[in-house]
Amino acid sequence: MQVDFLIVGQGLAGSLLAWELMQRQYRVLIIDKGVENSSQIAAGLINPITGQRLVKSHDMELLLPEANAFYKLLGKVFTDTFLIEKPMLRILQTATEAEYARRRLTQIDYQSYIQPCLNVPAGIKNDFGICLQTKTAYLRTRLLLSRLRDFFIAQDSYRQISLDYSQLAFTPAIIWKNIRARHLVFCEGYQAQANPWFGELPFQLAKGEILTGSLSGQSLKSILNYRHWLIPLPADQFKIGASFQPKWENLLPTSHAKAELLASLNAVCPAFAGLQIDEHKAGIRPATLDKQPFVGAHPQYANVHIFNGFGAKGSLSIPWYVQHFISALQQGTPLAEHCDTGRYYATHFTA
Ligand SMILES: Cc1cc2nc3c(=O)[nH]c(=O)nc-3n(C[C@H](O)[C@H](O)[C@H](O)COP(=O)(O)OP(=O)(O)OC[C@H]3O[C@@H](n4cnc5c(N)ncnc54)[C@H](O)[C@@H]3O)c2cc1C
Repeated sequence: MQVDFLIVGQGLAGSLLAWELMQRQYRVLIIDKGVENSSQIAAGLINPITGQRLVKSHDMELLLPEANAFYKLLGKVFTDTFLIEKPMLRILQTATEAEYARRRLTQIDYQSYIQPCLNVPAGIKNDFGICLQTKTAYLRTRLLLSRLRDFFIAQDSYRQISLDYSQLAFTPAIIWKNIRARHLVFCEGYQAQANPWFGELPFQLAKGEILTGSLSGQSLKSILNYRHWLIPLPADQFKIGASFQPKWENLLPTSHAKAELLASLNAVCPAFAGLQIDEHKAGIRPATLDKQPFVGAHPQYANVHIFNGFGAKGSLSIPWYVQHFISALQQGTPLAEHCDTGRYYATHFTA
């Protein structure tokens, strides 16, 4: 079997890349271990203004429209809603944060992202104030990935298998089992650390844990952000997350992270004390040392690529990088320097 692209990993990165390549008439085969991945566990939050300084990154005007358009188009094709737009109440946690919020509220380039909060819902403790963030949303990643997997299977473009790297050959062509590929793209999320060709890139992985709980009688409509966050879901359910653990022993959910998430929720919303926890999940964010993705070819094998490192912002950023990566491949134009793995050729690739 001959394909244009062999893609390893059906998380959000591999799935959106495979989808877009297929829209452009390329023959694609995507392979995946078939076990629960970080993309499925993630809350899929899209939040343009982040951190204690409430910063909007310089590329937001590129990333956000592409993400919105991509997920809405997929929604149309699959007649489902994957992107749920919801405003976010930012509960300011310190005097410094409140000062930054005051500043942002006067800045013209922030005006469509942040506004004063005129109706503070009852029961929310806000010693330093609250502001309203707009253009926020969450992506139903589990549903989207399941629909895309069904689509790939229907196109005979999916195999559930764990790739054994020793079965790959790159010369004279890319060969895996009976597949001959023009390009190979690794989209393995945090498991890229085991990849013999890209594993030395400076990832800075972080474990994260998320709770899903139910509580009836809550009329909260907005996402709450108080460093951690709470997302109201249908049917009296709520998602609460996410912990941030740069060091971890295993992939299991921990009682420590659960206690931390519940304590910080109760500190701002005591009415959630009766929340019943239905689910507790853990995953690993494929973050990188310089907080920029890893996109590009191996220095020795021009048709062997990585598309990874989307950290805690996969839902927001992957659609734009999909377009950027494919355009660069099609037109032979350089990748943007900040994401190009070429920035590490001298330090992290051995011949
Ligand atoms: C708790 C938590 C909360 C998060 N919340 C958010 C959020 O709110 N918003 C947001 O945008 N992002 C969030 N993220 C980050 C988000 O999960 C990532 O940005 C995104 O999912 C990365 O997708 P990926 O496809 O690169 O990796 P993954 O989803 O990990 O997918 C990689 C795939 O590759 C497969 N694979 C790996 N090696 C092999 C192999 N050898 N053979 C076959 N298959 C292989 C794996 O099985 C997996 O399916 C969160 C992450 C965590 C852990």
